[in-house]
Amino acid sequence: MGNINLKNFNYKELKNWVIEKGWKPFRADQIAKWIYTKKVNSYDEMTDVSKDIRKYLKENTEFSSLELVSYEKSNIDGSIKFLWKLKDGNTIESVFIPENGHNTLCISTQVGCAVGCKFCFTTKDGLIRNLTTAEIVDQYLQVQRFVGLEPKKRISNIVYMGMGEPLANYENVKKSVQIFTDKKLAGLSNRKITISSSGILHQIRKMYEDKEFPQVRLAVSLNAPDQKIREEIMPISQTNKLEDLMKLLNSLPVKPGYRIMLEYVLLKGINDRPSDAHKLARLIGKNKKRFKVNLIPFNPYPDSIYERPDEKDVLKFQKILWQYDIGAFIRWSKGQDISAACGQLRKKEINSFVKIHS
Ligand code: SF4
Repeated sequence: MGNINLKNFNYKELKNWVIEKGWKPFRADQIAKWIYTKKVNSYDEMTDVSKDIRKYLKENTEFSSLELVSYEKSNIDGSIKFLWKLKDGNTIESVFIPENGHNTLCISTQVGCAVGCKFCFTTKDGLIRNLTTAEIVDQYLQVQRFVGLEPKKRISNIVYMGMGEPLANYENVKKSVQIFTDKKLAGLSNRKITISSSGILHQIRKMYEDKEFPQVRLAVSLNAPDQKIREEIMPISQTNKLEDLMKLLNSLPVKPGYRIMLEYVLLKGINDRPSDAHKLARLIGKNKKRFKVNLIPFNPYPDSIYERPDEKDVLKFQKILWQYDIGAFIRWSKGQDISAACGQLRKKEINSFVKIHS
């Protein structure tokens, strides 16, 4: 087994690599079909690929970059949280979320995170490292194999909302999106992929200007109706001002039907008051059809400094936004009983995660 992992390659790179090896270009399509369509578990299953090529692949490339350590299934909503071990011993998590008529996978892009949002469990140990493209793509392939390949188990939606700030790992995230959306590879719909950012202005701008970054949906963690509150809970706002962020979001060339999601984690007594809802509505202003607000009642974790808001306050907040004709939805987070909800994923000590072993 070597250090090369074919899931680090987009289609063009895979083809070039195959040609470089002196093999016929169609071998790239064969290999891609086994990996992304049939989602096989080993090179031995690639039965129409010649024995010599399979032998070469086995000896010179790694098949998977992740090893499943354990998983937990929620008794409440059926979501499954996976803990993976990477080759260097670090661990990451992904969450499979079955919903009416579709299945979503929440994936991680970094081990830890440097952004430092005060309400987030992932950031407690800071950033350890970026994930490779293969480590991002393998979360999708491994989870799909785990839950099963039948049509009703198919992962249709991918959200980059797990551990890490996706746009801080720009090149690997970009390539993983190319792989997910390429018809010759994973072939998922662009509309069903969402990149969620904490609002790093220059990276969002870069993504929209980059012709090679497939256009997918954007979600931004807003979490506050004004600069003061945002700075308090998201230190990144000191350099990425809320006013500039809103200006940028209002100017992006967003495709029709691709509304920008504003994620708003509601923290009791901090940003969940009626006055905050009115301020948020004014911040969104006239361009309201461009946005959709996702209200996420905070999920406390051990030692968190914030509390979950009361249900009545969450409903009131939503109602106020509706009065301004703003699309606002409450995300009663999935997987709460297994700490798989937003902002709760974290690099784990392997032996502290023992609920169910595979
Ligand atoms: S909420 Fe996201 S961006 Fe903020 S610290 Fe957590 S993982 Fe990083």
